[in-house]
Amino acid sequence: MSKYLIRVARMFNGTAWSGPSALYMENGRITKVADINDTDTDTDGPELIDFGPDVCALPGLIDTHVHLAFDASADPVTTLAKVDDDELLEQMRRAASSALFAGITAVRDLGDRSYLAVALGREFDQHPDQGPHIVSAGPPLTPFGGHCHFFGGETEGTEALRTAVRERHEHGCGVVKIMLSGGNMTPGSKPPYASQYTMDDLRTVVEEAHRLGLPVAAHVHGNEAIVEAIEAGVDTLEHVTFLTPEGSDPNDEVLAAIAGNNVFASLTLGTDPNVPFTPPAALAAQIGRILEGHRALHVRGARIVVGTDAGIGPFKPHNVLPHAVAQLLQLGFSSEEALAAVTAHAAEASGLGERKGRLRAGSDADLLVVNGDPARDASALLDVAGVFRAGVRVR
Ligand SMILES: [Zn+2]
Repeated sequence: MSKYLIRVARMFNGTAWSGPSALYMENGRITKVADINDTDTDTDGPELIDFGPDVCALPGLIDTHVHLAFDASADPVTTLAKVDDDELLEQMRRAASSALFAGITAVRDLGDRSYLAVALGREFDQHPDQGPHIVSAGPPLTPFGGHCHFFGGETEGTEALRTAVRERHEHGCGVVKIMLSGGNMTPGSKPPYASQYTMDDLRTVVEEAHRLGLPVAAHVHGNEAIVEAIEAGVDTLEHVTFLTPEGSDPNDEVLAAIAGNNVFASLTLGTDPNVPFTPPAALAAQIGRILEGHRALHVRGARIVVGTDAGIGPFKPHNVLPHAVAQLLQLGFSSEEALAAVTAHAAEASGLGERKGRLRAGSDADLLVVNGDPARDASALLDVAGVFRAGVRVR
């Protein structure tokens, strides 16, 4: 495995900025981070890469909510139904590779079919330059005919839910996903503001997952579901659109419940600005209120990460996450806060906090190197100079 010494003009280490820096990588890990003037000359032959005077190194970005099985077409659900598992795996390989190429070195896949994202993750463990690290949920738990039932995770009843959680653990999933509220992609399922499971069902899932050491990600569009998820001890809240039968209502009670707990709010941000944004009808009219809610969450100090939901439409390609940073800035985040949300905090929310999301000795050598200064201009994140994953140079 290659040894690298990288020199950059500036660095974001996952939480804070620094000036000219030198990063040593060996055996897939970062072994040392130093001021550029402290560069060792006696180290045993690392390959020196000097990125020049206007380049910034950051931890590889982490998307906390993607669907590699969705192809980012106008109708990914229909495409999914048409392909067999072999074709689907090939499609997912391409999706994953486009994410990595953009500097997204880890993703949480929150819904696939036949545990294909787990298989793909194992493949990439052997070939880290081919795709990101994948934390996979497998088929999300949903009632019969419920939101995203076509992934194959339909489960009802206490014993069946327990068994389903164990099955995911045995398959090597790193998180359990439950479709607690209805959604926008499944005709005939409950509306997004209503919960699909009872509180007892939810507690069963959380209890069994935590017993096995797995965090739980809950799909929660409705205020009802958000409050229930927090009460049951769910680890990440997905979407958080504050829906009620009357529309989005980020009221005091729900905002305080989120900010007052350790739970992560995994906000669905990030769209490709070159593609028309066509959100689901139930959300389109509510976007202003939803973003107001997200802004308020930040003001109240909630733990916020970004899950793009990459794959669900043409405006959400699998490399979309860097675009979310500008959106966080618009919501009032500082550049440090915005970048921490897609690096250090995202790692923590994904159960990867020990190894990823920060540039420090001992971390996995997952890096995004960009031209320019993302502290001044978030679009610098799109001008990629280099990507490393597990110490292997991808580009
Ligand atoms: Zn999703």
